[in-house]
Amino acid sequence: MLDTPLYITTRKRSLVQTVALVSAVLLLLMCGPVRAADFSSVVVVSIDALHPDALTTSSAPQTMRMLELGSLTRRGMSTNPPKTLIAHAAMVTGKRPEDGGRQSNVWNDGEPTVTGRTIFHDAQERGYRTGFFYSKAKLGYLNNPGIDVVALAPENAIGKAVRFLKEDGPGFAFIHVSGLDIVGPQSGWLSKAYLEEMTYIDYYLSVLYDYLKGTGDYLLIVTSDHAGYGKEHGGTTPEEARLPFGVVSDVCDFPTMDDAPYSVEELPVFLSRALMCRAR
Ligand SMILES: [Zn+2]
Repeated sequence: MLDTPLYITTRKRSLVQTVALVSAVLLLLMCGPVRAADFSSVVVVSIDALHPDALTTSSAPQTMRMLELGSLTRRGMSTNPPKTLIAHAAMVTGKRPEDGGRQSNVWNDGEPTVTGRTIFHDAQERGYRTGFFYSKAKLGYLNNPGIDVVALAPENAIGKAVRFLKEDGPGFAFIHVSGLDIVGPQSGWLSKAYLEEMTYIDYYLSVLYDYLKGTGDYLLIVTSDHAGYGKEHGGTTPEEARLPFGVVSDVCDFPTMDDAPYSVEELPVFLSRALMCRAR
């Protein structure tokens, strides 16, 4: 695995990206009649450093129970390099580092934050209150005028997001959950301790899932910024760039995405179309 290049040739990569985009568009066109979005809750959960192979019924039973009603691909790909802030910036802006997106994985409080359009602007313009709840200080770079409520909450990002969603009016929340990014370098990706941490995170996410199921009108995306290989991450092995992408809604059907390619910067396009998707 270590000998396999992270990225294939430009020509082939371009083909892969084209296929991915076509897949995403087809997926969304199959969602049924398009009309203005009126989900009561839209939530993107980014579980930092989640290897797609850790998303199983044994290590993440609550998450898998949610996603079994939706669609999931384990063939997602991160940015190059596959690092936390760079990948999350691509998720929020739709720009990879080589295409004008964030190139530095370092950010300190007080430094300039992201500019331009983000997924939060899209949600805000569709009438959602927007919230960003994150667990690593460097993701403060992503704070922008499209966000109504922002909180750095390393210990309780999920709980704060649920409280935010319970307030009046449709809510859009982006939740960044830390934990695997700490256990991975210590014990190894997909190690026993890593999978136990996933189960722990999954347990806390059940609070969010229970709330969403109670609303009867939600859209949920579960994804990640990158994975790792052995005890390493942020490097050039293919395993380090892998990530899952799952979507589920109780009012919109998503055809299966099994093994469909997905790239981290496609989130804004996917989300903007999914927000218009009401199938029944
Ligand atoms: Zn990360």
